[in-house]
Amino acid sequence: MFVGELVDRSGRVARDLRVSLTDRCNLRCSYCMPAEGLAWLPTDQTLTDDEVLRLLRVAVERLGITRIRFTGGEPLLRKGLERIVEGAAALRGASGRPELALTTNGLGLDRRSAALRAAGLDRVNVSLDSLDRERYARLARRDRLPDVLAGIAGAERAGLTPVKINSVVLRDCNEIDVVPLAEFCLARGYQLRFIEQMPLGPAGQWVRDELVTADEVLALLSERFELTPAVEPRGAAPAALWRVAPDDSQPGGVLGVIASVTQPFCAACDRTRLTADGQLRSCLFSRTETDLRGVLRSGGSDSDLASVWAESQWKKPRAHGIDEVGFTPPARTMSAIGG
Ligand code: SAM
Ligand code: SF4
Repeated sequence: MFVGELVDRSGRVARDLRVSLTDRCNLRCSYCMPAEGLAWLPTDQTLTDDEVLRLLRVAVERLGITRIRFTGGEPLLRKGLERIVEGAAALRGASGRPELALTTNGLGLDRRSAALRAAGLDRVNVSLDSLDRERYARLARRDRLPDVLAGIAGAERAGLTPVKINSVVLRDCNEIDVVPLAEFCLARGYQLRFIEQMPLGPAGQWVRDELVTADEVLALLSERFELTPAVEPRGAAPAALWRVAPDDSQPGGVLGVIASVTQPFCAACDRTRLTADGQLRSCLFSRTETDLRGVLRSGGSDSDLASVWAESQWKKPRAHGIDEVGFTPPARTMSAIGG
């Protein structure tokens, strides 16, 4: 029987599994998906709920995974989500039950939060790039801001806390939202993370020189708030955290910036990824994948699945190389990889 850890040739150990449950989405965020024309994965290639649960069990029981994050596409579009969460919550590895989180755009989260909490989900990250309805609709290409805000409030009510908010800042678009988003989150005790835009959207859309960097976001925040570094060093956590001093109009708290492009955290990366069609990716930017679905559907044992996963993770690239000459982004968009 294969029992071990997901170690790679640079000595990193993966503990954090990102599982994409679908490549479909009900938004079309401009930095993630094209407005139209993206082909969905065929249903017969998508892992069933039982197949996902089997791979989660192998990951937790045999490969040392301690944190599972469900993502997509939009994971709330997956009908079996509550059942998958319940199954994952029943798993036990060497260090006990895995932590379970969900990254979502928040649409419908108000109606699903209580059931997800009851199924065993611990936390949510909700993506929110603007509090201005018109700008939100432009960025997400859908006029759904009120539904997202209802979803965030629903998650908080259900105890899916601390609620984390993810924001991507785009040049000449939503820089104006940086401070209002921070005020909104600080006032409610939500943990906000600004993420640098990565070259994972529609082909040809990402321009390095137009990137709004984490430093620029920090400069915008510093004009309004008194910031001091909250945690040093940041370790495997991608976000550099900043403590915000309280003032007359907000209670203070912590904010994060994720400088995936300008200050990559590859050396401390502890992630492994599984796509909705059962392909393993050791890195968000991998250009090659390992077909775990094929092993699963051809009758592979748990031990076979674990060995194939371990072998694939061993080859994890040392770094994503976005800033290097000759960098080529992966063929899949973020929505089909699982962010
Ligand atoms: N649909 C869910 C959501 O939006 O939260 C989950 C999937 S989405 C791909 C996961 C995260 O990736 C979101 O926070 C989104 O903002 C982020 N994301 C998508 N495309 C990105 C890009 N090109 N660069 C940086 N972050 C991106
Ligand atoms: Fe959908 Fe999330 Fe991508 Fe937006 S970021 S298009 S919500 S998958």
